Amino acid sequence: LANCSECSVYRQTVGQNPINEIGENFNSLMLAVREKEELLATANDELKDQYAELEILHKQAREMADTDLLTGLWNHVHFQHHLRWEVDRACRQHKPLSLIMLDLDHFKTINDRFGHQKGDEVLRCVGKLLRNKISEGGYTARYGGEEFMVVLPETTSGEAMITADRLRSLMKEVAHEVELPENAVSASFGVGDLPDCASDADSLISAADTALLFAKRCGRDRVVYFRDLSGAELEDGDVERLYSRLEGASLQT
Ligand code: GH3
Ligand code: MG
Ligand code: MG
Repeated sequence: LANCSECSVYRQTVGQNPINEIGENFNSLMLAVREKEELLATANDELKDQYAELEILHKQAREMADTDLLTGLWNHVHFQHHLRWEVDRACRQHKPLSLIMLDLDHFKTINDRFGHQKGDEVLRCVGKLLRNKISEGGYTARYGGEEFMVVLPETTSGEAMITADRLRSLMKEVAHEVELPENAVSASFGVGDLPDCASDADSLISAADTALLFAKRCGRDRVVYFRDLSGAELEDGDVERLYSRLEGASLQT
């Protein structure tokens, strides 16, 4: 009956004793409180589950926003944040940091000759290669169209050059995997490092970018280190471009 005092059996046994009645009421109250507590605990557990689910969804949404959908690598925006974070860490800890920038050679020709879907396949395959071959601690991103970045913390320029050259020679495997003629896929690489070529994230990108430009100019399918650029390789306006981009870097030529 929800309330004991409305029950005839209760009325007969307890009668009119107000102390007993208060006791019974108190017991009913405590039972009700316990019931509510259980309901609250269940609601609380459900809320916790929903919160955990929301956190996973939020993380997935963040990752999607930071990911390049074609290659599965980090995208340009994420790269910019990440590089700044790595540069700060390298400066704080006085550790070297290398950046490799690579650009597929004559990629437009691949699109023109074999179709844009084949071009997409090549980009996906290069993404997979970078993910698989860059060891833990390294970071890979698609910078734009057919340009990629590899960030190598605690890595000297010499080690980065070796990594870049290994990636360069693996481009033949990409051609094989996507069923293109043997030499259809190649890439040029520019390497810059901290602290020798640059002092911050922007000048580090500029160093790798400029070295890449020279790799293209020298015939493509090669690796160039920014500090190896000699005066002989520079053309009109290049020196100005180099130095204006490398403001504050410890460049000694
Ligand atoms: P270079 O050796 O000088 O780098 O020549 P390139 O042809 O690779 O460079 P260019 O800048 O002339 O052309 C880049 C091409 O990349 C043009 C553009 O259509 C293509 N591209 C950019 N993004 C994508 C993409 O997501 N998919 C495909 N299939 N092509 C793309
Ligand atoms: Mg390009
Ligand atoms: Mg290109």
